[in-house]
Parts: sequence; structure tokens; C-alpha cells
Amino acid sequence: MRRELAAPTPTSSRLALLDGLCQSWEVSEMHPFRWVPADGGRHATADVRLAGAYATGETIVALCARKVTVAKSTEVAWLWPTCAECNSEAHALAESGAER
Ligand SMILES: [Zn+2]
Repeated sequence: MRRELAAPTPTSSRLALLDGLCQSWEVSEMHPFRWVPADGGRHATADVRLAGAYATGETIVALCARKVTVAKSTEVAWLWPTCAECNSEAHALAESGAER
């Protein structure tokens, strides 16, 4: 990033692109929740203990305040309908995180 302060080079636009990608990655990492297939739907959870990995059969508390059991991460599970309450909670969290 410091290189951008130097004289423009043919790679400057590429650096800017990489910088943009880094920023979008940081924003997504800031979202304090994860989506997880559970109990026949896609719920979001803010349970940080489980960040990045959910054990099949483990009970977690979703953003909709339901206790749900984590399903096997199959492709079918990701086609389950999104929990509407989790969805609105997740949007609220994402928006508050973006303002920081
Ligand atoms: Zn839910």
C-alpha cells in the first residue's frame, strides 16, 4: 500500500484492485455471525466459540434465539430456506458493523 505513494507505475491499478479486495475481505470478516444449516433451515449464529467450524449434531443458539442442531454440511442443506428472523438480525449486525 505504501508503494502507491511513489510515482505511478503500470502496476498501480493492480495494487488498487488488491487493496479493494483486501478491504472487502476485512468487511466480511467483521460480520460477527456465521450462517449454518440447522433444523431444516439456514440460521445465523453469533456463537464465536464455533467460528469457522461447526460440529454436526452440536446445539447452537441462532440469532433468532432458537436452539438449533447443526446439520451435516451437505449441498442440500445449503438449499434450505433462510430463517427470516436470523436474516433480519444478520442484516442489522452487518449494517452496524459497516458503520464502524
Ligand atoms: Zn433462525
